[in-house]
Amino acid sequence: MNAVYMPVIGLEVHVQLATASKIFCSCSTDSMGAEPNRNVCPVCLGLPGTLPVMNEHALRLGIRAGLALSCAIRDRTIFHRKNYFYPDLPKAYQISQYDLPLAEGGEIVITGDDGAPKRIRITRLHLEEDAGKLVHSAADGRLEGAERSFVDYNRGGVPLAEIVSEPDMSSPREAREYVQTLRRLVRYLGVSDGDMEKGSLRVDANISLKKVDGATGDLLFWGERSEVKNMNSLRAVERALAYEIERQRILMERGGTPERETRHWNDGAGVTTAMRSKEAANDYRYFPDPDLPPMLVTEAMEERERRALPEMPWKKAERFTEQYGLPAADVEVLVESLPLADYFEACVAAGASPLRASNWVRVEVFRVMNERKLPADAFPVAALSLGRLVAMVDEKKLSTTVAREVFDAMAGGKSLDEALKGAGAAQGGIASEALEGIIRAVVAQNPDVLDEIRSGKDGSGKKRKFLTGLVMKETRGQADGKQVQAILDSVLGELL
Ligand SMILES: [Zn+2]
Repeated sequence: MNAVYMPVIGLEVHVQLATASKIFCSCSTDSMGAEPNRNVCPVCLGLPGTLPVMNEHALRLGIRAGLALSCAIRDRTIFHRKNYFYPDLPKAYQISQYDLPLAEGGEIVITGDDGAPKRIRITRLHLEEDAGKLVHSAADGRLEGAERSFVDYNRGGVPLAEIVSEPDMSSPREAREYVQTLRRLVRYLGVSDGDMEKGSLRVDANISLKKVDGATGDLLFWGERSEVKNMNSLRAVERALAYEIERQRILMERGGTPERETRHWNDGAGVTTAMRSKEAANDYRYFPDPDLPPMLVTEAMEERERRALPEMPWKKAERFTEQYGLPAADVEVLVESLPLADYFEACVAAGASPLRASNWVRVEVFRVMNERKLPADAFPVAALSLGRLVAMVDEKKLSTTVAREVFDAMAGGKSLDEALKGAGAAQGGIASEALEGIIRAVVAQNPDVLDEIRSGKDGSGKKRKFLTGLVMKETRGQADGKQVQAILDSVLGELL
């Protein structure tokens, strides 16, 4: 009998909500580079006699995310205490939601492994507070040689939305795409920055294997699921799940049975290791938090958040395909970030042809963003200027080579007009198309020089200088030397 192993994957994604203050107190949520235990107060430290007060902004962001996921929003929802003892929780309980979550029953559509759209059901979205962070130090002279653990409560009480999916994913690739789709969504919504490295978006994966008869499709055995934690990138999600599928498959093939347990992904070693056996839900002794009144979601609140929804990324992708006739690969890149998609559309609105604008954004804009580590919304070249520049290339007023020079000058802070003048492309200079024609003619008239360059005898660049001299002579010195060199280089590049 030929057995087949089929992965069953469900994900729990914790998204840090983009509020300025914590979920039940007014401490700042911005702890990047902050000294440990700076952003704390008696409320988030759980000191006796303090009372939590719900942050309404966090509730609104939760409603918005729930609506975007097509969930039903509960009009009356409550908080529970989830009890467990661990030093990252100063109160020894986490304020979370249990059987009455804010939102339930939604979906996300991804591209399945067969290439067709696949619906991943969303079980629920609930709100909760984050825990603190433990920092384990290695042996350190200043600490009398001892290994110690420290706790930083800056993150304790930061608002999270936990989004739980049904086990509808069947491969690491589908899981990765689900996380990517969800991340893009929360960024579009302004609900979270979705930064996995900073921990603003954290993924826990539940994974089990079904052993199925390859001929009949009958279920032979369904293993227990493990919960994998500590995957800090999309790639880590994919790798960790691929590893876990292999581990469980080999175990089952050898007659073993996977246990219900929590496993830790070690990205460096590329393995998961057992952390602890999974607590059953009743171990947490959930009970309603008596300090917090029920949260009421009125129709007006829901309506307000519904109106705040932007064009959804998948809708935008459809529209970009239809309206601009862009290839799928272009659409995927442009739609990934809302500022970038807006930038592209502004270029087109300024007169650029969609396909060329898309190329410029994906190649040149990305290059400068990467070189300078800039986010799309801080890009130094206005979309209007790039749009006009690309339109000039469309109309063959500029060659791509000259246009790149102009673009670089704009990225360096020049206006479009200044940059055009500098590149010798404005009125008075020689149109780059004409110049390119002259250069091609000069090269064609000197095949021996071309041969020498081809055979690698132009280490010192003398031959190129010779050709440049001929071009300058031909143009009676009116051409810009740098421009000539750039065009000559690209012409030679084609010929060599
Ligand atoms: Zn606080």
